[in-house]
Amino acid sequence: MEKVVIIGTGCAGLTAAIYTARANLAPLVLAGPMPGGLLTTTSIVENYPGFPEGVDGYDLMTRMQKQAERFGARVKFGSLEGVDLSSKPFRLNVDGENIEAQSVIIASGAGHRHIGLDSEQKLETRGVTYCATCDGALPMFRSQPLVVVGGGDSACEEAHYLTRFGSTVYLIHRRDQLRASKIMADRVLSNPKIKPVWDSVVTDILDPKINKVTAVRLRNLKTGAESELPCAGVFIAIGHIPNTQVFRGQITMDEDGYVQSTHGSQTNVEGVFVAGDCHDRVYRQAITAAGEGCAAAIDCERYLAGLHV
Ligand code: NAP
Repeated sequence: MEKVVIIGTGCAGLTAAIYTARANLAPLVLAGPMPGGLLTTTSIVENYPGFPEGVDGYDLMTRMQKQAERFGARVKFGSLEGVDLSSKPFRLNVDGENIEAQSVIIASGAGHRHIGLDSEQKLETRGVTYCATCDGALPMFRSQPLVVVGGGDSACEEAHYLTRFGSTVYLIHRRDQLRASKIMADRVLSNPKIKPVWDSVVTDILDPKINKVTAVRLRNLKTGAESELPCAGVFIAIGHIPNTQVFRGQITMDEDGYVQSTHGSQTNVEGVFVAGDCHDRVYRQAITAAGEGCAAAIDCERYLAGLHV
């Protein structure tokens, strides 16, 4: 039986792994469909303390994993297909394998929010993407007009990054003010290659019939005017949804699926702790996720000590 299973290998999960490993708990760390978490899809992380020149998101996560492994954490790749937290030991089904655990740290992060259009789904990987860092350099986007949807830090970061490849980057936002931090907003608004399109939403993406992106249909929310904007790529950055479906009905969550904690990182189930983006809908930074991972590890360690493990 495992003393602690950590679900997730983003900043929160790997920090929890470093701490629990150093407490000699030999954590089993489950890497789901996106090992390293969302940060691996970012280019340069400029606000993680200790890296005055910035650090590549993928590099940062690789280093965190190495650090955890150095102290005895074991990273296992696989999908968490089911959990039973109703009795102890807790049971987790990973790709059909049954794993028993005395404690669990949920750090399963969040996935990209979708607009919800039929055409968006049909054209995913055919010009519609949720990650500029992953896909921006593809030949189909070179020297072409590109569209970024969203008004937060992610959208601004994507738009800025895409100016390396696209001819013009249109930033489509549903309001007339960016949600992004001032430094990111200023960077975007002063870039001549980025053209904001305010008060507008994407109502359709063309053209699923030929399996490639040729344009977006827009509606101006203030005037109701409809228009078409030719482009070769649509980069969607409209926020995230917590990866917590598998815990539904087992653990207390809010209406959007964010796991709720009661005392520190403790959830409503004794022995189950939570950290990072699957729980935090306010701060959602790499450093706050790491901090929460640390707190969850300490709470978990104290819980196990109480059981005389
Ligand atoms: P976010 O801050 O939640 O912003 C989401 C944006 O998408 C908002 O502008 C929102 O519009 C818009 N939006 C949401 N649903 C929409 C829909 N259905 N249709 C059209 N637009 C929609 O998400 P984020 O930008 O991914 O950032 C998440 C967190 O990560 C934030 O705390 C951010 O600071 C952080 N982050 C930091 C960095 C950095 O510091 N380098 C980089 C990336 C992310 P409204 O504004 O109208 O709500």
